[in-house]
Amino acid sequence: MKEQQPKILSGKPAAPGIGVGNAFILRDDNKPVHPEKISDQEIEENIRKFENACEFLVQEYEKIKTIPDDYDVVEIIDAQIQALNDPEVMSTIKRKIKEENFSADYAIFSTFNDYIQLLESAGAQWAKDRTIDVVSIRDELIQATKEKKKEFDVKKGEIVFAEDIPPTVMVKLSRIKISGIVMERGGLTSHAVILSQSLGIPCVINAHWDRFQLQDGNDVIIDGSTGQVILRPSWKQKQEYLKRREEQFSRFQKALEWARKPNKTSCGSEFTLRANVEFLEELPRLKTHGARGVGLLRTETILFESNEFDVWDQVEFYSNMVEAVEGHTVTIRLFDAGGDKLLENSETEANPFLGWRGVRMLLDKKEFLKKQLEAIYRVSGKFTGKVRILIPMVSSMEEIHEVKRHCIDVCNSLSRQHVPVDSETPIGIMVEVPSIALMAEHVAKHVDFFSLGTNDLTQYTLAVDRGNEKISHLFDSYHPSIWKLIKMSKDAADKEGIPVAICGEMASKPEAAACLLGLGINDLSMNTGSIPVVKSVLCSNTLDEMKKLADRVLHADELEHIHELLEEWRPA
Ligand code: PEP
Ligand code: MG
Repeated sequence: MKEQQPKILSGKPAAPGIGVGNAFILRDDNKPVHPEKISDQEIEENIRKFENACEFLVQEYEKIKTIPDDYDVVEIIDAQIQALNDPEVMSTIKRKIKEENFSADYAIFSTFNDYIQLLESAGAQWAKDRTIDVVSIRDELIQATKEKKKEFDVKKGEIVFAEDIPPTVMVKLSRIKISGIVMERGGLTSHAVILSQSLGIPCVINAHWDRFQLQDGNDVIIDGSTGQVILRPSWKQKQEYLKRREEQFSRFQKALEWARKPNKTSCGSEFTLRANVEFLEELPRLKTHGARGVGLLRTETILFESNEFDVWDQVEFYSNMVEAVEGHTVTIRLFDAGGDKLLENSETEANPFLGWRGVRMLLDKKEFLKKQLEAIYRVSGKFTGKVRILIPMVSSMEEIHEVKRHCIDVCNSLSRQHVPVDSETPIGIMVEVPSIALMAEHVAKHVDFFSLGTNDLTQYTLAVDRGNEKISHLFDSYHPSIWKLIKMSKDAADKEGIPVAICGEMASKPEAAACLLGLGINDLSMNTGSIPVVKSVLCSNTLDEMKKLADRVLHADELEHIHELLEEWRPA
C-alpha cells in the first residue's frame, strides 16, 4: 500500500509547546437524538433516569474537582455544576417528559438546544465559546441517561484530536499526560483552551484535520506556538521537532527560574511585567510566572455573562482579582464591547471595528458605564491605591471628559451614601486609535496614564482588520508607523509626567519588549505564559543595548529592516 505523505495544517495557536506523538481521535459517539414519544406509564421511569443522570454527573464533577489541586479548575467545574442545577432548565426538562411525553434524552436535548440557540444568536465570540461548554453538559447528561459512561482509551503521550473538548474531559485527559490537543472548533477564550494553557498542554484550535484521513495511531506533531499541525511527519521532521521540543522545554525551565529574580536588566535598570487577564482561573499562574499585578483586566465577559449586570457580582469579581495579586495593582478596563465582541441584540454593522465599540457604546449605554464605575469605586474604597480605571477605544478628548464627569458623579454619590471610595483612583486611556496617539501631548494633560493597545493601534493605523485571515500577513505591529506612534505617545507622557504601559500583544514578544524598554517604556503587560521568556531576555541584556536597538528601529523606514534588527533579539 502506498505510504501517505506528510500533511501540514495551519490552525490557531492556543497554548504554547510542541507535542510529538500518536493521534487519538476523540469521536463524538453520541447518536443524534430524535423526538421520541413515550407512553404515560414510561413517564416515571424517564423522570427517574433524568434525575439519576443529573445526580451522577454532579458526583462526577465533584470527584474531578478534588483531583488536580494544583490546577485551578474548581471554578470551571463549579460553573458546570451550576448550569446543571439551573432550576429553570430542570423544570423545563421535567415538563417536557411529563406533559409532552418526550423521552428523557430528547427532553434534555431540546431544552439545552434552546439555550444554545440563544447563546449563538448573541453572535459574540465569547458566547460562541460558552456554547461549547453547554453542548458538553447536554451530551454528558444524555450519555448518563443511558446509564453507561463514555470510556477513554487515551494513552500517555498521545495527541488528542476532537471537534471540541468539554472541561471535564480536559481534566481527565490531563491526568493521562497527553502530549497535545487539536480541536476543529474552540475559541481562544473557551474553557478548554484556558484549561490547556493552565495545564501546560500544547493546543491548536480551528485546525480542520478531518479531511485528511487521519487514523488513530498515526504519527503527528503539533506546535501550539505557531498553530502548525503535521499529520504523518517524515522521520526528519519528527527528529527536528523532538529537538525543538527539548530546547523549548529547557528554555522554559530556565526562564521560569527568572520569575523569582528581581526585575532588572543586567545593568540594574528596573522594569515591571504584568499580566493581561480575563478570568479568575488565570490567577494562580501570575505568581509562578512572575507577574506583578494585572496590567489589563478585560471585563467584557461580565457584560455577556449577565443581563442583570449586577454591581455586586462585579464588586466580587474585581475584589477577588485585587486580593489575588497580593499588594500589586489591577488595571480594570471599562467594557470594550463591540467590534468582534458583540452585545446580545446589537444591530449588525457594516464595519463593526469602526463602529459602536468601547467608550462609544459606554457613553450611549450609560447604565452600563454607571454600574461598572460604581462597582470599581466600591472596590477602590476597600483596596485604596490598588485599582486603576482604563478607558477603551478613545478617539477624542470629549469622550475622556465625559467619562471623567461620570467618575466624579459616581464618586460623589457613593460618598453621600457614606460608602468609602478612593477618589484618587487613576483614570487612564487605551492609546489604540491613531487620532489619540497623534494628539497625545494634549491628551496627556487630562489623564493619569496611558496604556498602549498595539493590537488595535496596528489595525487602525495600517487599515488591516485584525480578524481577517485574508490579509493577516499585512497585520504587523513592527511596522515603522507603529514604532513612531509609540514613541510619540511616550514622549508626550514624559512631558506631562504620566506613566505609560503597553498591553498589546507586542509586549509579549521578547524582541519587541527589549525595544520597548529601549524606548523607555518599562511597564509591560502580557499574557501570563509569555512573562518568563520576556523576563529572561530583559534581564540578560543591558539597557544601553536595548536603547541602541530602539534607536535603530526608530530610524528604519522599511518593515523588513525592522524585522532584521529585531530578529537578533528573538530567543533561539
Ligand atoms: C489592544 O488593542 O492592543 C488591546 C490590548 O486590547 P484588545 O486586544 O482587547 O482590543
Ligand atoms: Mg484594543
